[in-house]
Amino acid sequence: MKISSIVVLGAGSAGLMAALTLKRKVAQLAVRVVRSPDIGIIGVGEGTTVVFPRHFFEYLKMKPRDFYAEAEPTWKMGLRFLWGPRKEFYYTFSFEFEKRLHELSRNNGFYYSDECPWLGHASAFMAHNKVFPRRPDGLPQFHNNHAFHIENKKLVAWLENRCRDHGVGILDATVRAEKGGDGIGSLVTENGEHITADLFVDASGFRSELLSRALGEPFRSYQDALFCDRAVIGGWPRTEEPILPYTTAETMDAGWCWQIEHEHFINRGYVYSSGYISDDAALAEFMRKNPKLATAPRVVKFRSGRYERSWVGNVVGIGNAVGFVEPLEATALQVISVEASTLADSLLDSLCEPTPSLIRLYNRYNGDQWDDIRNFLAIHYKFNTRIDTPFWRACRADTALHGAQDIVDWYRENGPSVLAGVALVHPSNSFRMDGYLALLAGQKVPHNRPYHPPPAERNFWRQHCRNLAAEAQRGLDVKEALQAIRSPGLKWS
Ligand SMILES: Cc1cc2nc3c(=O)[nH]c(=O)nc-3n(C[C@H](O)[C@H](O)[C@H](O)COP(=O)(O)OP(=O)(O)OC[C@H]3O[C@@H](n4cnc5c(N)ncnc54)[C@H](O)[C@@H]3O)c2cc1C
Repeated sequence: MKISSIVVLGAGSAGLMAALTLKRKVAQLAVRVVRSPDIGIIGVGEGTTVVFPRHFFEYLKMKPRDFYAEAEPTWKMGLRFLWGPRKEFYYTFSFEFEKRLHELSRNNGFYYSDECPWLGHASAFMAHNKVFPRRPDGLPQFHNNHAFHIENKKLVAWLENRCRDHGVGILDATVRAEKGGDGIGSLVTENGEHITADLFVDASGFRSELLSRALGEPFRSYQDALFCDRAVIGGWPRTEEPILPYTTAETMDAGWCWQIEHEHFINRGYVYSSGYISDDAALAEFMRKNPKLATAPRVVKFRSGRYERSWVGNVVGIGNAVGFVEPLEATALQVISVEASTLADSLLDSLCEPTPSLIRLYNRYNGDQWDDIRNFLAIHYKFNTRIDTPFWRACRADTALHGAQDIVDWYRENGPSVLAGVALVHPSNSFRMDGYLALLAGQKVPHNRPYHPPPAERNFWRQHCRNLAAEAQRGLDVKEALQAIRSPGLKWS
């Protein structure tokens, strides 16, 4: 069937990103969004990965200037983990563990030690609270190995404005689905109006109105790998605290806590397992760790997993309506970017007449990316030895590694070698072998091949670390870089 009209159910980040992506890439499509003012949006999701800026500025070719002015993001270079036996370790978007300096015989991962907790520019800058190198004229030397922290309200407002600019209609109505043909016949409003389309995008959040409730697609739980099912969220207005260029992920008694850095607000959230701690005890621990909390903490419940298929008949699920994993690597907006772009590319490539094999491929590709994230998060739980509580003992004993098992086996025998990366990690896995090496080495997972570099290599590596630190110290911090992008003379490329 030829697709010329699309109705997106939901106007959270997922619905609006899908609508904007589809309209911007396939201009001839009629795209409408239906959202319920009564149900509202989940209103969380403030950390991103590099896939997010690349989606908007490279794939969709949106203007960064408008985005910075309206969404007011800060830059995120990666994560600082307070996790495992080290005081801290860094996870960057710059693939620093797999790189090899030509003066050295092995990839960087083999030289990593507590003596120098950074391996490249990104981690050195993070360790010194800097975000961009300083050019001779004092302005930032921008690069694209960063993601963003963005307040959800501002992101949704920016997306809504861009949707309207592109002629996407937004209708306020709470609807129920009526089945028809090989999927959904129409969405019916409370006034009895029937809304029809050739394709429905289900972006209705955890309610999964179309994919699950109407079409009954089976759910595949991730609970054997990810035990957390709740988060308590709060924060406080920033006063004298520096704006850190990363998200912090900190081990807690029955889960972990994020710290996300907005320009004027610090956002904290404790992700925990209700099987190991009550809401009241989690709240008490959260408040103890965060005495500055100024907003009333709220509890959000979730379950980790994904629906078997995301494209079923004339329905394509995007965002929480099709899957969810906790935000330990802040991947939801990344997944939404990939889901939206693969849908737009599928329609473009098929001249809006998608074939059964294309739909099967779409389902396989998007299912795989959810499973990849589950596998990657599993190693965060399996090997975190920082504290000894019933929750963490259970994680170390019982977390199922699924597709990460082969990578862990490789690491245990061969150390932080990148050699098997292409064979063990498929090309569309966004973490790559590097991400696994960062987490395994970061958590000091034991392996059989410690490397003792000869003195010449050791000296070279020490000098390399000192050079990186010196460069980082000269860089701009987030506050200075925000001032720079607001200076009238700045040329945007
Ligand atoms: C604790 C927590 C922390 C998170 N942190 C991050 C993070 O740091 N980074 C990240 O990338 N992601 C994060 N996420 C995930 C992220 O918040 C979501 O993936 C993202 O906001 C997308 O949500 P959504 O649009 O799918 O759903 P929602 O925001 O829930 O939107 C659903 C939409 O559907 C509409 N709707 C539903 N039913 C109907 C109906 N019957 N009729 C009409 N309209 C209807 C609603 O009105 C709403 O507009 C986090 C999630 C949680 C739970």
